[in-house]
Amino acid sequence: MTSPGIAPSADRAYFAAFLDLRGKPGVVVGGGPVAAQKAEALLRSGVRLTVVAPELCARLAELTLVGALRHEAKRFQPGDLVGAEIVIAATDDPSVNESVSNAAKALHIPVNVADNAQLSSFIMPSVLDRPPLQVAISTAGASPVLARKLRSMIEALVPFAFGRLAALAARFRAASKRRHPDPEARRRFWEDVIDGPVGEMVLSGREAQAAETLQRLLSTGESALSPQGMVYLVGGGPGNPDLLTLRALNVMQRADVVLYDHLVAPAIVDLARRDAERIYVGKESDRHALRQEEINALMVRLARQGRRVLRLKGGDPYIFGRGGEEIESLAAQGVPFEVVPGITAASGMAAYAGIPLTHRDYAHSCVFVTGHLKDGSLNLNWDVLARPRQTVVIYMGVRGLPQLCEQLVAHGLPASTPAALVERATLPRQRMVAGTLETLPALAAREKVGKVLVLERATEDESGGNSRFTAGLMRVAYNGVEDLKRAMPDLSPEEIARTDFGTYTEEQFLDDMARVTEFRCDPDLTELLVKRSMDTVAWMRSKGVRFTAAWGRQAFNIGGRFKFWGGLTVEAVGGGPGLVDSLTNAAKKNGIEIWYSARATGLVAGDEGVQGVRVKRAGKTVEVRARSVVLAAGGFQANPEWRARYLGPGWELAKVRGTRFNTGDVIRMALDIGAAPVGNWSGCHAVAWERNAPEFGDLAVGDQFQKHSYPWGVYINAQGKRFVDEGADFRNYTYAKYGRVILGQPGQFAWQIFDAKVKPQLRDEYKIRQVTKHTANTLEELCAKLEDTDGKAALAELKAYNAAVRQDIPFNPNVKDGRCTQGLAIPKSNWANTLDTPPFEAYAVTCGITFTFGGLRINTGAQVISTDGEPIPGLYAAGELVGGIFYFNYPGGTGLTNGAVFGKIAGTSAAS
Ligand code: SAH
Repeated sequence: MTSPGIAPSADRAYFAAFLDLRGKPGVVVGGGPVAAQKAEALLRSGVRLTVVAPELCARLAELTLVGALRHEAKRFQPGDLVGAEIVIAATDDPSVNESVSNAAKALHIPVNVADNAQLSSFIMPSVLDRPPLQVAISTAGASPVLARKLRSMIEALVPFAFGRLAALAARFRAASKRRHPDPEARRRFWEDVIDGPVGEMVLSGREAQAAETLQRLLSTGESALSPQGMVYLVGGGPGNPDLLTLRALNVMQRADVVLYDHLVAPAIVDLARRDAERIYVGKESDRHALRQEEINALMVRLARQGRRVLRLKGGDPYIFGRGGEEIESLAAQGVPFEVVPGITAASGMAAYAGIPLTHRDYAHSCVFVTGHLKDGSLNLNWDVLARPRQTVVIYMGVRGLPQLCEQLVAHGLPASTPAALVERATLPRQRMVAGTLETLPALAAREKVGKVLVLERATEDESGGNSRFTAGLMRVAYNGVEDLKRAMPDLSPEEIARTDFGTYTEEQFLDDMARVTEFRCDPDLTELLVKRSMDTVAWMRSKGVRFTAAWGRQAFNIGGRFKFWGGLTVEAVGGGPGLVDSLTNAAKKNGIEIWYSARATGLVAGDEGVQGVRVKRAGKTVEVRARSVVLAAGGFQANPEWRARYLGPGWELAKVRGTRFNTGDVIRMALDIGAAPVGNWSGCHAVAWERNAPEFGDLAVGDQFQKHSYPWGVYINAQGKRFVDEGADFRNYTYAKYGRVILGQPGQFAWQIFDAKVKPQLRDEYKIRQVTKHTANTLEELCAKLEDTDGKAALAELKAYNAAVRQDIPFNPNVKDGRCTQGLAIPKSNWANTLDTPPFEAYAVTCGITFTFGGLRINTGAQVISTDGEPIPGLYAAGELVGGIFYFNYPGGTGLTNGAVFGKIAGTSAAS
């Protein structure tokens, strides 16, 4: 029989209900373990229980003994059910079960027969019990196993404290009805309670406080939503996401903003709520104090905005995690917080490497220390560490391994003491090297644990790729001279006094990146590039790279004071060659080996990811095994075939400004193993370059072949025509894309024309010997000298230009002055000066390609991403072979910053 309009579905004929059986009589027939289970379920619901069975199993006997139930020691008879409100049959005799069922049905008592839906009038669900909260699951008897599986899934999802929360809600239900008589308002109130601070308090175990708060909210009628957020300091465990605690996962899925550093595996950061804001707060081992303060302040600020701030830490926050300092600052500022413990690296390692930390026979105590080197040495309490029958766990111990082993032996431990080094514990690529205090350092060295090898295709003289060819300028965001002093601590007071450094904020840098790349630059990578620019340069300084302010290049002298413009302020001492030399020295000083004239020919890779590189060196190919490989080998601009293929026809005719070694081999190697290409593959950085320069860069001339002063003059092509707006923007924002424009002119060249008025403004590169240049006292004379060029047309064009200049607007090289032309098909928008003061000069330029924009896809950890969208284990990339950052154009000085920022990230990720 069905009700009108509602037909029972064939698969769902049960009615779900929760029965109130408190104090009601019930009967279980049967005395075995199954009956015991059913009896316990009934007892938990408060049933007054009688068990009918000739004999009882131990559990039921015990329950009888303590008076939890009454036992009728007899065979079942239908009369046993009289007065009962619920009956369960669980004997191993089907005929008894059937007679129980028949008797109950005759008396209209709900009956369940274990494992027999046919004989049952109700079935028992699989129950998740968080009293008073209950979740009941039924498959209508189809698959009890599936129901149990679902229950354990829900168990992982529902915090234990939800039951307590429900209990609390029950206590205040009546009061909430009085305070919020309107059901809609009451529903909203309770939603806010559960999602707001009261819910948080219960979930973090502060029930009394929660009750107090709820009481107050109900008596004042205040909103239950938090006026102030809170901070969760969460231990993310040793790296394997399965080792997160349930509480950690729960908090992560509710966070509004996530602060993480490189000690937290990306797979774990990924588990945070999808739309939570993610902030990388890094970790600078050499600048702890300041950095830590910044993190503390940031957490306070975000929490004050009312947000749930998740501070994710590797391992456990309180074990070498500086968690203590972070909560101190939160407590001092009155920001509520909760600390969620995590599995520390030591216990993760112990479990996954099979090394118990304590053992009845071998180790009665265990100490944790860090083996972090300070000024190259270790300062530990050796006598305490060298005790017998003790496990010593050393965090950050790879660098100091030889010293550690040596000192432990020197302080009395037998050289034969077992010792192991475990890296990436709990992760798929975990590796262990085991030996003794005597043998471990050599074993670790052989396995190249913690070792870095640099492969350089060039000779030592030509090493450093394109960096060596640059001027050493690095674009960094700064808020004033205080920031700059981090990179240039030796700026003198006089220098500071005579300089207006202005500011170049992160917002300006981001704007510049977005504008010149026409809003295509990858937002996450660009944000990192910008936010880490200053830190990275300061870090380089701490490693011995010296910087100076680029007074000679990026500043104008105004009334005796230098004013910086355009955001390009920091320059490596010694330019590109200086930069490469100091980086090389820093690497050598830190024990990094460099092989010169060593050409990588392929990656050693399998299903587990990348395991090394094939290298051709002195005519021999060898395989170098490594835990991780960082690719940083530049673009493909020195490969004419790839230029024509990707940049387009004609590009094989461009000159290469820099190294002849950047031919895209390494990009190809990565693509060969499934790396994803991304970005502006038909785009590149290319500038105006001396027309008769050699095919590749010449280190003796360096970047002096470039000709970057065109904003102060005009361009003319072989047909005598202007073809580009020389004053569209500051040179910094146009020079990198005008190379392509010149390549597109007939004969792939053009002339830059200036008069004597602007001659003092011309950059140093105009003074070198290797220029193709003409000088004349009249424009007529000059135009007649221009080889390969229609001189007549050129003269007419220059005259037309002169006539179109808005002379009423004053010329000012420090700003976009708006002194423009009027009525020309190709305008000049700023700095339009008439060519009227002899001598006149013309410089021939062609297109010089600097680097290509297309490359490999990486994520914010500089991991190379495969075409399937997953990181390729063990493979990292940085610099000009990475795609997705620059499109169409780039802001000057961003190339070196890009290489440095992502180089540092790649190195850090690869090492951790
Ligand atoms: N709070 C963290 C430790 C931070 S110190 C914790 O409780 O684990 C960082 C150091 O921990 C690393 O340099 C490394 O020495 C160690 N470490 C972290 N995760 C590790 C892992 N999965 N395997 C081996 N060592 C690890």
